[in-house]
Amino acid sequence: MNQKTASQINVPLLDLNRQYDPIKNDITNKLLTMFDDKRFINGPEVTELEEKICQYTNTNYAVGVSSGSDALIISMMGLDIGQNDEVITSPFSFFATAGCIARLGAKPVFCDIDPNTFNIDSKQIESKITSKTKAIMPVHLFGQCADMEAIQAIAKKHNLAIIEDAAQALGANYQFADKALKKAGNLGTIGCFSFFPSKNLGACGDAGIVTTNDKDLYEKIKCLRMHGETQRYHHKYIGGNFRLDTIQAGILTIKLNYLDEQHNGRQSNANYYNTHLAETIQKPIINSNSPSIYNQYTLKTAKRDALKDYLTKHTIGNNIYYPIPLHLQECFTYLGYQEGDFPEAEKAANQVLSIPIFTELTKEELEYTCYHINQFFKG
Ligand SMILES: *Cc1c(COP(=O)(O)O)cnc(C)c1O
Repeated sequence: MNQKTASQINVPLLDLNRQYDPIKNDITNKLLTMFDDKRFINGPEVTELEEKICQYTNTNYAVGVSSGSDALIISMMGLDIGQNDEVITSPFSFFATAGCIARLGAKPVFCDIDPNTFNIDSKQIESKITSKTKAIMPVHLFGQCADMEAIQAIAKKHNLAIIEDAAQALGANYQFADKALKKAGNLGTIGCFSFFPSKNLGACGDAGIVTTNDKDLYEKIKCLRMHGETQRYHHKYIGGNFRLDTIQAGILTIKLNYLDEQHNGRQSNANYYNTHLAETIQKPIINSNSPSIYNQYTLKTAKRDALKDYLTKHTIGNNIYYPIPLHLQECFTYLGYQEGDFPEAEKAANQVLSIPIFTELTKEELEYTCYHINQFFKG
């Protein structure tokens, strides 16, 4: 170990300064144009972003919305999911996944995860289906698509919608057995994306989008986004204000041009970790047909809490996504789940730790991070 690596450095979990610096001028100029224009609501940038996201995900339709959570809500409103309906989803995700189902009066029905990918275990889905089931909501966690070929087959057999929670997976590919390649957001009835600043494509505030190939659903959702209005002051549905800000859309149209480059950087950092972290450490397990875009790079270890303290002591950014599985959240007590119901989700919550993976990490930071993680496991 060289002198440089031995001395303490600060490795942030995510550094947005480094991401914005090279595109600062482009973004500033775009902002000035938009301020001159003052079409803050439904400006041309919203449509431009929707078109670009259609191209990028190879879907027919996209509707910009106010956040990833609102993307989930408006998708389910579009599919008429509500009281007395059930939606099958993963208990190991960000809260919004299940929270949005419950907010519409529907029941989140959890299904345990695959311990390798942390995504919903497709083999257990069918046993959760009842006469009330309306949809399956797989989450493409950390940037790797769920087992969509199997999920599509189940949905087709039982006539269920698929709502992809693709908040962490814009640009992630999925390859089917027949070699057909599709992107997240084009793998179900509707795809939901978040542009929260820490996602791979992040806005400067809250923003999201939905994608679909279903024309009727698209038109309904576009209408729901504007209070269900078909023409001014004529309301066909009880919708809401789910609009995407013009300013956020404008920023995102610029940042989208750099997304693939950002993904390459994350992939190369992941490659670095994969080769430089000791073999015995459990690194992300990525299926060859669903390459990750690495929204997170997540280790799994029984010594997680000690590793977390150790990394924090050595000023290496880290975070637990997610420390409490959704079925054990206080607000879901009414669902009647108990500890032990989903052992793999519970184990993951106790054992995962995400480490810095953002594109602009330096060689020195990667080296430093690997050195300390390896030291910890030797110790
Ligand atoms: C970020 C995220 C959301 C919610 O997105 P917001 O834009 O923060 O509302 C939903 N699901 C998952 C899996 C997420 O990571």
